Amino acid sequence: MKYQTTRVPFFSSVRVRLTLWYLAIISFILFLFGGSLYATQTFLSPSTAESRVETQLYQDTQYLRETYKPLLLQHISPLSQQLKISQNEVVLLLRPDHTILDKRGTPLPTDTIKLLQERVDSNQALFDLSLSQLSHTGNWQGNTSTYRFLVTPLLEHDARIATLVLGQAKEHPIQLMSIWLFHATMGLLVAAIGGYWLAGKALQPVKMITRTANEINATDLRRRLHLPRRDEFGELAATFDQMLARLEAAFKRQNQFAADASHELRTPLTIINLEINQALTQSQTPEVYRNTLERIQAENEQMTSIVNSLLLLARADTGEFTFYKEEVDLSDIALASVERLLPLAQQHKINLATGDLPELLVEGDSEHLSRMLMNIVENAIKYTSGVGTHVYVELTVEKAWGIIRVQDDGPGIDNDHLPYLFDRFYRVDKARTRSQEERQTHVIQPGGTGLGLSIAQWIAHSHGGEVYIQSTPGEGSLFEVRLPLIAQVV
Ligand code: ADP
Repeated sequence: MKYQTTRVPFFSSVRVRLTLWYLAIISFILFLFGGSLYATQTFLSPSTAESRVETQLYQDTQYLRETYKPLLLQHISPLSQQLKISQNEVVLLLRPDHTILDKRGTPLPTDTIKLLQERVDSNQALFDLSLSQLSHTGNWQGNTSTYRFLVTPLLEHDARIATLVLGQAKEHPIQLMSIWLFHATMGLLVAAIGGYWLAGKALQPVKMITRTANEINATDLRRRLHLPRRDEFGELAATFDQMLARLEAAFKRQNQFAADASHELRTPLTIINLEINQALTQSQTPEVYRNTLERIQAENEQMTSIVNSLLLLARADTGEFTFYKEEVDLSDIALASVERLLPLAQQHKINLATGDLPELLVEGDSEHLSRMLMNIVENAIKYTSGVGTHVYVELTVEKAWGIIRVQDDGPGIDNDHLPYLFDRFYRVDKARTRSQEERQTHVIQPGGTGLGLSIAQWIAHSHGGEVYIQSTPGEGSLFEVRLPLIAQVV
């Protein structure tokens, strides 16, 4: 069987959203950090940058002087010499007459060279000059970069043999920004990949839960996640497992209920079928036909009773059932129920008696409250029959509760059965369900549908009450229904 999984749109997925949030926060931090760094570089410590350029200039000048001087003294052309010049440096070696001996580094246009020659003439040792069209540098400000120049004469016995002009591009804050931008972008890229991976890893259990949930169907509710984690996902999985356990139990109950109901209906149906077949195969006397019809009627009544009880419980389960709410006197209910069951009690040779029946007012549905009490008293008569002789009904009050007591001296109920007595179709002695033979001989033995107490409990619960049982095997049972009394206005 194929299960349909719902595909989450890319941008709606928690994984992507987590990554984006994560990136947004990292970007914010990076930009904040970069911005403050930039501001510090630009506004707070420009002198630091300048002094760094100058130190570099002095160091490189020293190196160039030491390289050039021996060459010039030996009349070797400096052009043949390999020099280590950095990209943002300009080197100009001039003869005393200012003609060019060597020219390295950033290519300089003629007018710039002229300008530099003029500056050398004016004996300026350190100056700044904006040079344009420097193709290899960053072009942040219209192809212009500011260079700091250091002019140093090369002397031999106090005579100038050449002049060294060394220029160094000043570190522009914009350049710093571009470096930072590059690193920030790279950082964000790594963060995006890492964040996506991390989010995926963190959300792995969710994927597992989703997969398992998709694989579970109504017939396989035994599956559990058993996620061995102590975090929120572990908690979620445990809740999910508990929900599955509840579903499984409910599903089992439902199946059991359907199976029991079918079983209960099958017996009367089989009997009816047998009776009809027998009646049809050979002609009978009117007396025999009459008996057959009576048996069919009895089975039919039994089925009707089961179906009505089932319908009532089904409606109770769906919460569709609504009770009438009226003021009901429990003594009226008790008297009416006892009166209706007196013939049954007489038939079973049971002394059905009442004790104190004070007026006790509750809010409820009189028809259903009667039904609840009838079920309990009828059981007491049926199960006491042949064992004991008394069934006693009385009413008492305990604080805000009205209590209906039904006491019998019947067989009692073993403790083992008490927890299940209100379960649907539960009977203490399953064999006491009416047998085919009993039905045919019209000797009605105790044993019904196993639904009577479930219905009684449901009615009590629906009225805010409860049913309690005390029973001693061999001595009898006491059924107690507690219902909240209507508060008396004094
Ligand atoms: P049933 O239709 O079988 O009477 P109930 O739900 O009314 O079903 O009762 C469930 C079971 O509880 C009965 O089958 C019976 O075994 C036991 N029971 C109920 N009332 C009594 C009682 N007064 N004395 C002994 N057993 C009882």
